[in-house]
Amino acid sequence: MNDAPSPRAAEIASALTSVGERLTRACLDAGRDPDDVQLLPVTKFFPASDVAILYGLGCREFGESREQEASSKVAELGELDAAGIGDVRWHMIGSVQRNKARSIAQWAYAIHSVDSPRLVDALAKAATAALGEGGREQPLRVLLQVSLDGDPLRGGVPLDELAELAERTESAAGLELSGLMAVPPLGADPERAFAALQAAHTDLLRGHPAATELSAGMTGDLEVAVRYGSTCVRVGTALLGSRPIASN
Ligand SMILES: *Cc1c(COP(=O)(O)O)cnc(C)c1O
Repeated sequence: MNDAPSPRAAEIASALTSVGERLTRACLDAGRDPDDVQLLPVTKFFPASDVAILYGLGCREFGESREQEASSKVAELGELDAAGIGDVRWHMIGSVQRNKARSIAQWAYAIHSVDSPRLVDALAKAATAALGEGGREQPLRVLLQVSLDGDPLRGGVPLDELAELAERTESAAGLELSGLMAVPPLGADPERAFAALQAAHTDLLRGHPAATELSAGMTGDLEVAVRYGSTCVRVGTALLGSRPIASN
């Protein structure tokens, strides 16, 4: 056996170190404890072998944005389980159709992109069934995706409907309200966007003190997000390279 890392493994290891340093610096610059902000590698569009490399480097949580791609990758990694990959937590971060709720409830530890009452209801039903059948052991953690510009095409719940959606999630069986997520609108000033998100999170915490997660920040804007209270930055490009165009 040759234990020298492959070129791809060396490349990913070096990127992971750089992103880790960048995140630590962002936390220190913001006067925050680096342990309070999670780095969530986003592996969409990249093969299961890259996830296995990240796993070998100590990563245990991964973000995926398309249900079919994610569920086949989860299955593929299950087959590589000689490495003990059973302890991985998968996060669904992309927009979701209700008819995918059953599948998501089988593999996702958390979903960051919940933005409608109908999706909450579908996920509650699916997670409850999965809990009953042994398909999962813990409630599905839900982050509500907030729309910061009110454009329904880009996903996210408008701010004036957030409180009601949070209530519905909190009282749904099989779900656990964990916090909020947002992606700044295209062309928007990230400072203003993340400030608005942080204000919405502060409001939410008054009624839902356990909803402490704030999923905000990506490759291009993680420093700003950390300044505005992010607890989880979702990073793809800086770790794995650029994706094909139109890859959201
Ligand atoms: C793809 C994606 C990311 C990662 O974005 P990068 O700019 O590649 O770091 C983060 N969040 C969501 C919702 C995504 O779809």
